Amino acid sequence: MVMKCRIAIVGGGLAGTATANALKTFGIDAELFEAAPALGEIGAAVSCSPQAVKALWGLGARERVDAVGHRSPGEYTRNMQTGEFLEFRDRFKLAEKWGAPYYSFHRADLLDALASTLDPEHIHLGHRLVGATPRADGVELAFENGARVEAEYVIGADGVKSVLRQALYGNDNPSYTGQMAWRSLLDASVVPEWILEPSGQTEWVGPGAHVRAYYIRQKKLVNIVTQQDTGEWVEESWNRRGDPDEMRTSFANPEPRLKALLDLVTDCMKWGLFARPINGNWGHERIQLIGDAAHAMVPNAGQGACQAFEDAYVLGRWLSSCEDPLEAFANFRRVRIPRVHGVQRLALANLNFKHMRDLGAQKEAIASGKGSMHGKNDWLYGFDPANDWNSTPVVAEQYADPPEQAAALQNSVPSPA
Ligand code: FAD
Repeated sequence: MVMKCRIAIVGGGLAGTATANALKTFGIDAELFEAAPALGEIGAAVSCSPQAVKALWGLGARERVDAVGHRSPGEYTRNMQTGEFLEFRDRFKLAEKWGAPYYSFHRADLLDALASTLDPEHIHLGHRLVGATPRADGVELAFENGARVEAEYVIGADGVKSVLRQALYGNDNPSYTGQMAWRSLLDASVVPEWILEPSGQTEWVGPGAHVRAYYIRQKKLVNIVTQQDTGEWVEESWNRRGDPDEMRTSFANPEPRLKALLDLVTDCMKWGLFARPINGNWGHERIQLIGDAAHAMVPNAGQGACQAFEDAYVLGRWLSSCEDPLEAFANFRRVRIPRVHGVQRLALANLNFKHMRDLGAQKEAIASGKGSMHGKNDWLYGFDPANDWNSTPVVAEQYADPPEQAAALQNSVPSPA
């Protein structure tokens, strides 16, 4: 039997569940299809900057999000090998400036918060999309379990390996970024306080690598996430269980705090980082891509999920404001693509800064305010979803689309190749 629906959301990760919340809040019915047998997230953290917290609040999840978010007073940056203090970013002060907190979440807690109000009747688990065929009056969706769905409109939140993006653009594949990450969670009771104090959040930067560690879940867990330059990612899978000793030895001569932290790791995951090119392949006609399906980026601005939350809110607003969803999708792309392209470029600039090999130059870059992205990114954090959802975005000049590309986007929406 073929199921018919008006709007199908494919993918129940952070982007898909946030969008389902937004649509529900704005009074729009949708069916959500997720490949996994249950909605869930990996055992790791995600941090969320104020403008994205406002998006989460706006899509109807304020109380639930506030209940599971952890706030740290700020982040210290230190040299990875000498331990030298380089910078402190006062997050309480920045939160005051932007009108919402920075939160760090356990991903599973945030996903639960977003999934908890959705009606299970509209969530279809165990539905892995394997094909999508656009028709004049809708899109036919084929699932691995044999189910067939005819949706009038489809929102593709199926992640960096998006089947919907593949269906629209063929060989537009994500590529390996030359970066790999280690991820680990530690029980906070085994982590001596001196390692992360005074604020409970530290980033160590060094040649070709960085490490971040911070508390989540009301200080019950410490999240460790690292990143390093390597051209050696040869495996087909993008993540797998890692070897803690390999993780430790991949950071040469760590300063005492970092060494003590890495020595505590007993379990870790190893990730190859893949990203999408910065282009306008965000969807066409009845299919709209969001989240990593549209704009997977290197994680160095801490914005992949944040941009997905903005996507969710802004798409919900456009869908509730336009009678014709095609018009809503086109407007969504018009306002979202330039902003997210700016964020993708900012993330690459942050990566270059964090992994500088000349540590003197890196220190100078921080001192002169040229290295750290904080403090001069009003265009990013000053975005207020509730007021700015329909405005042409402001993007810092150095990260903006070239003028011809920007003009073309304002005049038309991208077509499939
Ligand atoms: P996904 O999380 O990939 O979800 C896709 C969903 O679709 C999954 O549930 C999947 O099962 C489902 N799916 C896939 N294929 C199909 C199919 N064919 N049919 C049906 N369902 C399907 N971002 C931040 O904002 N802050 C951070 O601190 C941060 N840290 C990061 C650290 C690392 C190391 C990395 C790698 C990323 C980080 N990010 C961060 C980015 C963030 O994790 C992603 O941008 C975000 O999780 C993307 O969410 P998504 O829902 O678009 O995609």
